[in-house]
Amino acid sequence: MSPSAERASVSRLADRAGARWQEHAPVSFGETSVAATWTPSDADEVAHALAASAELGAAVLPRGAGTQADCGNLPERADCFLSSAALETIDALDASEGVCHAGAGTPLARLQAAAVEAGWELPLEDAGRGSSLGGVLATARLTPRAQGFGRVRNVVLGLEIAHANGTVTRCGGRVVKNVTGYDLAKLYLGSLGSLGVLCGAWLRLRPKPQRVVRLESDPGTETASRAVDWARRASVRACAVREGATKAGAAIELAGDAASVAADRDALIAEGLQEAEDVDLFAHPAADGHLEFQLSFLPTRWPALAAHLRDLSVGYCAWPGLGVLSVQFDADAERAFALAGEAAAIAEGRWRCETPSLAGERDVFGATDAESALGRALKAQFDPAGVLNPGRMAGRL
Ligand SMILES: Cc1cc2nc3c(=O)[nH]c(=O)nc-3n(C[C@H](O)[C@H](O)[C@H](O)COP(=O)(O)OP(=O)(O)OC[C@H]3O[C@@H](n4cnc5c(N)ncnc54)[C@H](O)[C@@H]3O)c2cc1C
Repeated sequence: MSPSAERASVSRLADRAGARWQEHAPVSFGETSVAATWTPSDADEVAHALAASAELGAAVLPRGAGTQADCGNLPERADCFLSSAALETIDALDASEGVCHAGAGTPLARLQAAAVEAGWELPLEDAGRGSSLGGVLATARLTPRAQGFGRVRNVVLGLEIAHANGTVTRCGGRVVKNVTGYDLAKLYLGSLGSLGVLCGAWLRLRPKPQRVVRLESDPGTETASRAVDWARRASVRACAVREGATKAGAAIELAGDAASVAADRDALIAEGLQEAEDVDLFAHPAADGHLEFQLSFLPTRWPALAAHLRDLSVGYCAWPGLGVLSVQFDADAERAFALAGEAAAIAEGRWRCETPSLAGERDVFGATDAESALGRALKAQFDPAGVLNPGRMAGRL
């Protein structure tokens, strides 16, 4: 689209949004820059915004708190953000059933606090980032406590979604087993807002643990190999092992019934770990300008992968209980992608680049042609006009 046509479509979008439109300083995603936000007040207004965008040939970037606004591939084009900020509601929190329903714009921290107050725990992680519920579901990232909490898809019972054709649909609901036919909710989780805008969700809570204990190990060269066994203990809810060029350390969180936490705590202390007030389950040796990758690995391939990364002298943070690690390469993009491919081959896993702004033209997911073909067919059904986050998903869909 030419710059003048682009400006025309933005001003026509602004007319449709009325008071729900706000202009602001531009936010850049590579070549694309976005200088306005449309903030609909409910799911029907979100659907209306999408239908208007489709009609005007515009593209939107769904946005929660914006903490991971550049995850996935950089968008190919965008005329405005579509914010979930006004969808901030906790509509139901049933302390007897352990389920809740909230709007997508609800800060995760607010929902976590409400669950705790009702005697439950929300098994989703924010780690003080300020994420929105919708953003956490749309990214569906593995986070350290997923070892104990389970995957995002196990937490979501139902969703309300606004679609690019202007409709609102629901899938699943408040009861655990109510899916007939395709379990569509799973399709939207991790779709990075490329198939629809999440407006609300039913979530399954879990009982609060009786006891939580955190432990850490002193840096030592044995840590990386021993952490795999530590991570297998029954009450481990998160285990992170970090290795730099010169040191390694592990951080572990135990949670659950008091007796099994006490047993695991004692066993790990006997192995040389110490109790710690607070442990850092995520921090890894981050450096500006380095390309960061997330690698998945088979547990049996861990020793070979750890040795390979040590030979390369690159720092990493691994979650051995989940079979995932973050690693950064100080190399140009071509070399860094090649190194990620080699490491993934050793790991018998997959890679994904986490720094889209440094990836150039490359697909940060490394999707195969067959995967891209299926994804393209889905995108064509859900978003034929390319309104939602165009270019963002695997295969640049
Ligand atoms: C310890 C920890 C580490 C993490 N590490 C990473 C990491 O390395 N990389 C990473 O990507 N995530 C990571 N996450 C997850 C990430 O923090 C959250 O997923 C993120 O904060 C999302 O919340 P947000 O509201 O800021 O979303 P945003 O940043 O606003 O949006 C993120 C994505 O979701 C889409 N989106 C937002 N809201 C909606 C909606 N209502 N409907 C449809 N799509 C929507 C956006 O278009 C965008 O593609 C981590 C989380 C934790 C707790």
